[in-house]
Amino acid sequence: MRASKSAEHISGAEKILNEKELDTNIMALVQRALHHTKGQPDLINIKIETVDAQKIEYIDALPVSSIDVDSPAQGQNILLEYLKKLGLRNSSSIIKKFKETYAMRGAMLLNADTLERLEPNLDRGIRATYMDAEHTALTDNGCCKNHFQEAVILASKVANAPNIIAEICISDDPDYVTGYIASKKFGYVRITKLKKDGCPYGGRIFLYRGRSGDKYECIDYLEKQHVLVRSVPSAPAKKIKEADPWQFVRDDLQERKESFIYREMKEMHSAQCSHVYSNGRDLLMLASNNYLNLSNDPRTKRAAQKATEQFGTGSGGSRLLTGTLPLHTVLEKNIANYKNTEAALLYNTGYMANVGIITALCDKNSVIFSDEYNHASIIDGCRLSRARTVIYRHNDMTDLADKIRKTPCSRGLIVTDAVFSMDGDIAFLPDILETAKKNHLLCMVDEAHSTGVIGKTGHGICEYFGLTAQPDIIMGTMSKALGSEGGYVCGSRLLIDELCNKSRSFIFSTSLSPAVIAAADEALRILAAEPQHVKQLQNNVQYFCDCLKKNGIYSHSDSAIVPINIGDEKQSMQIAQKLFEHNIFILAIRYPTVKKGKALLRAAIMATHTEQELHHAADIIARYVDEK
Ligand SMILES: *Cc1c(COP(=O)(O)O)cnc(C)c1O
Repeated sequence: MRASKSAEHISGAEKILNEKELDTNIMALVQRALHHTKGQPDLINIKIETVDAQKIEYIDALPVSSIDVDSPAQGQNILLEYLKKLGLRNSSSIIKKFKETYAMRGAMLLNADTLERLEPNLDRGIRATYMDAEHTALTDNGCCKNHFQEAVILASKVANAPNIIAEICISDDPDYVTGYIASKKFGYVRITKLKKDGCPYGGRIFLYRGRSGDKYECIDYLEKQHVLVRSVPSAPAKKIKEADPWQFVRDDLQERKESFIYREMKEMHSAQCSHVYSNGRDLLMLASNNYLNLSNDPRTKRAAQKATEQFGTGSGGSRLLTGTLPLHTVLEKNIANYKNTEAALLYNTGYMANVGIITALCDKNSVIFSDEYNHASIIDGCRLSRARTVIYRHNDMTDLADKIRKTPCSRGLIVTDAVFSMDGDIAFLPDILETAKKNHLLCMVDEAHSTGVIGKTGHGICEYFGLTAQPDIIMGTMSKALGSEGGYVCGSRLLIDELCNKSRSFIFSTSLSPAVIAAADEALRILAAEPQHVKQLQNNVQYFCDCLKKNGIYSHSDSAIVPINIGDEKQSMQIAQKLFEHNIFILAIRYPTVKKGKALLRAAIMATHTEQELHHAADIIARYVDEK
């Protein structure tokens, strides 16, 4: 059917029907022509043709997806992307061709590679006809097909034509700005805005790839082959993109602010000593991991300078390529020696060490038993390893034994912080070692906060408990008491050889720079030679705890971390803010670092704090904690 008004085309439609459905469908088509939004026609032309049922081809509708865009420019960019996916280098020239289609009645048949136009009659173009949806005539009264369905039916036939690689279409309806690109390769992709609102121009381009001389087979198919399309969807698919791809991020940050867990960075304007300058204030530092002040020792600084002079600022490669200097090898020997193990290996950070060790030693056939308060880097290592991870209650040896009994495994690992990084308490390593041995499990301990802090001379958790047996895997970091940066692992030669070959965070990262390594090595030398700094730190912690106790706050610690429980996130932040106003820098630790509702103030003590400073801080802390 074609409806027109003084030679102007208004509407066209066609159906492929059973003979007995003819009456109702003709009525419906006439109604549609008479009530068209473009105006009333003065001529309706209905043509009825017999179709040989044997010659009808059945095809499936193209799968439909929909992309939401805000502007025609964005829409055209998507169109360009899809044209590129088809391997077309001249995609923007193709889109420019749309201008030529505006005056045409049919579609442009374009050689996609040469941009040669293949229509025998350039004004008329190609008219894809003789297609319908299978069954629609049986199930509706003939007028229910919508623009969307008609477009999918046409696009499905066109995509199926010989040598057609895609069709692009922009509607000529001023109120309809949605267009599409369709091809067998990626289906019917609806793009919600391809032209300006109210723009009366549109057109179709069929993209042809093949010898231009073969075009008649394609044109015949498009204009004469009867096609019924199966499973035409009735409405566009759900949108696959939000209008603003960053909206979920805005929502997330807003939510964090509202629940007082939003985080911001503060600048420190001096070296990390017991006092720091920050934003014009002289603050008493109760939050630094530089427990022994080795990051600011003249000897470590000089070692860093010397190494820089000799070896430069960067190491230039990963350890297995060009990044191993004598500095690295010597430090590994010294750390192994300090921890009394066969060998050691450096990582760029403690975080990378945990992730790299656990993923190298555990896989989906392993079970890891992990303390619920373990550091995030251990948690991430467990997750990344794909091992089954069984979390036991914090430092609860009965629960650990229980869970091991209930979880038979052929390969397993127990992993724990030595000093827990937020609460400062110490793992019951003797029990853990015994349990590991009894159950043939490997045992790994993270000494980030214990090296240089606990044990009579600061050697860490084994010295603290006076153990002769050792965990299989001892890891730690040079970024805390050693005042530099980098992670390490100590253990057997067997362990180190395996990590060297398999541990991805060791292998695929440029090694630590000369200054960092030299500083850490000098710090280790000082730590071993001058245990009095460790003693001073331990005395300071006891003194600080005593001062708190005198003020009614009971907090005990054998490490350098003194936790002061608060609970509520908002309150913890308010107290930290009050203390900041008194020039005391202390951190409020909140979810997700600790559990929700378990917020705390975490005081980190240094060997260089004076008793007077600690006394003063304890008094002021007590004033605000009491008020809560
Ligand atoms: C700080 C810390 C780490 C990470 O060490 P970095 O060298 O800072 O990456 C790992 N484990 C524990 C327990 C820590 O406290």
